[in-house]
Parts: sequence; C-alpha cells; structure tokens
Amino acid sequence: MIKFLDLHKINQRFHTEFEAAFKQSLKESHYILGKNVTKFENAFANYCGTQYCIGTANGLDALTLILKGYIHLGKLEKGDKVIVPANTFIATVLSVIHAGLEPVFIEPNSQTYNLSLENIKQHYTSKIKVVIMVHLYGQIADVENISEFARQNNLLLIEDAAQAHGAESVTGRTGNLSNAAAFSFYPSKNLGALGDGGAVTTNDSTLNDAIRLLRNYGSKEKYNNQIVGFNSRLDEIQASFLNIKLSTLDSDNQRRRHIAKTYLDSIINHKIQLPNYNGSKNHVFYAFVVEVDDRADFSKYLDNNAVEWLIHYPIPPHKQRALVSFSHLNLPITEKIHKRIISLPISPVMSNEDVQNVIQVLNKY
Ligand SMILES: *Cc1c(COP(=O)(O)O)cnc(C)c1O
Repeated sequence: MIKFLDLHKINQRFHTEFEAAFKQSLKESHYILGKNVTKFENAFANYCGTQYCIGTANGLDALTLILKGYIHLGKLEKGDKVIVPANTFIATVLSVIHAGLEPVFIEPNSQTYNLSLENIKQHYTSKIKVVIMVHLYGQIADVENISEFARQNNLLLIEDAAQAHGAESVTGRTGNLSNAAAFSFYPSKNLGALGDGGAVTTNDSTLNDAIRLLRNYGSKEKYNNQIVGFNSRLDEIQASFLNIKLSTLDSDNQRRRHIAKTYLDSIINHKIQLPNYNGSKNHVFYAFVVEVDDRADFSKYLDNNAVEWLIHYPIPPHKQRALVSFSHLNLPITEKIHKRIISLPISPVMSNEDVQNVIQVLNKY
C-alpha cells in the first residue's frame, strides 16, 4: 500500500529530539505561554521575514483573530464584506462568519486553483474591505496583481497560508506577502505539530498587539482584562516540537517539489490532467492535485492498485449544509473543479520506489 501521507514516518525522524523536548517540558512544568512559544514565534517570524509572529490554538483561530484584530482596531466593522476563494477549505469562510463579516465567494483560475484578479474585479463593490487569498495546495496566489489591486482600492490583504509554509515568490515568503497571514500547524500540514496549532505573521505592530491581547482573554497582565478576548494560544509542548521541525521545513519542501517534478515529467496519460507548475519555489506541494473525467472510476482503480488518495475537497463550502444560505450561488468553475479533482500521494518521506510505483500505476490507467 502506498500511503497518501505517512505521518508516523514523517515524525519518526524527530523522535529522539521530541523525547528530549518532552522530558524538558516535564521537568520545567511551564505549560502555557512560556519560552518555547516565544522561541517559536521569534524563529517563525524570522523564517517568514516578518517582524511579528503570534502563536494561536489553530489555523482557523489565526484567521479569525486577524479579522477580529482589525475590528478591534477600527479598520473593519460588522457587515463588511470579505473576498474568499469559492474553492477553499471551509475554515477560510468560517473565519469571516465568526468575525461577523460577510464572505463574497470568488471563482478561482481553473489552471492555478487560486483567486484570479479578473474574477475579483468582476465582483468588486465598495462594500468589500478585505481580500483573503489562499495559497491553495501550496502554490502562491497571484500576489503581485492582487496586492496592487488591494492597494489601489484601500483593501486589507490577508493570506491564508495554511497550506503554503515556506513557499517563496520573488518578493518574499508566504506570511510576508500581505498585511497579515494565518498559518495552521495541523499535523498533516507542511509544518505540522503533534496536535493542533496555528500562528499569525505580520509587520503591523498595532495588529500584533491586538492579537496578543485577543488570544489571551484580552489580557497582557494576569487577571487584568482590557478587551473582550478569547482563549487561543499555541501550547508550549507543541511549540517545542515545532521548533525542532522548523529546521527541516526547507528540505522537506524541496523533496516535495522534487517528487512533483518527477510526477510531472513521468506521468503521461491523456486521461489525467496534471497541475500547472513553473518549476520555481513558489509551490510547496501540500497536495499534488490532478483532474480526471471519471473520478469514481479512477479512484476505484487506485484502490485496486493500492495507491491511497484524497480529495481536497469533495464538497465546496457554498454547498455545505452549514452554509446553506449561500447554496444558491452560481459558481460553475468551482463546482466543476470539485467534481474532477483528486490528490495523489506526496510527502517528504515518500521513497523513490513509491514515487515510481505511483507513476507506473497512473500510466497504465
Ligand atoms: C488547514 C487549513 C485551515 C485551518 O487550519 P486548522 O489548524 O485546521 O484550524 C485553514 N485554511 C486552509 C486553506 C487549510 O488548509
């Protein structure tokens, strides 16, 4: 069986260091907002090239706290509209709703799966105050054009970088391509903890201050609550594991790109549409997504040939029961993509032999 993502194997590489970190944590018994979180926040800000990083409990909270932070600072208000890609993971949309704002679903470019400036322009109104660009599947969105548009129209630009830790554009790394960025350290992400975790990165010192308050009961000093806050902190123990794993993020991403290039060079089958990739570091291949006409048939074929697969994602957010008030929207590109996409195994610990096996299986389909 070729695993889709072998998390045990991914984390096994660090077992000795994890055990040492855990022992140290047991000894120190400082569980919340201690030196491991501070160390990780500094290291990750430094990695992204931003001035600030704030650890949060997960990626959804990181997104929500950015929006709540801007509301707290008076830069957004209830009812303001926020552009989200219609084909994103539902968390992007939920953050907008949890912040009391209104999502505007925009169709992606069908080649890159990311927001296109063209489609944003078509739906732009003066009620829109924010664009959340998702670097979906690990590929950086059309940052240059979208940030120019955001600047011209005085919009806040936010990155949902939950799938794109370490991806690089000509102007810098994800996390540093917008006003503020949200990351998730969910175990399966390119930088994954051994549980939940998230972070915000930004160069805005007022937003940094606001989110630091919001994530910790609105308090800087214990039992002194300045604003109506939340409890959304990155755990010390998770921060200690992330400090260890951050050192291999670049080489892990490099390995993912290498596997992706091998797939792109070697999978030759007119029934399988391969993803677009320019060969640069602008993609970290959180997922390697192909399209097929008959997905039921193709997935059964993969099952029969012991190749694991996943779908990112089978149902678009506006068709989820939770978001039924948006189900009337006409989003044909998104709906077509969701019917055709399927993700193949890719991970930094996948062996060359497994890569070759996947290629053989696909070429025989
Ligand atoms: C994983 C993910 C999130 C949410 O992260 P959690 O840590 O699971 O809350 C948000 N957006 C995208 C695009 C994601 O892939």
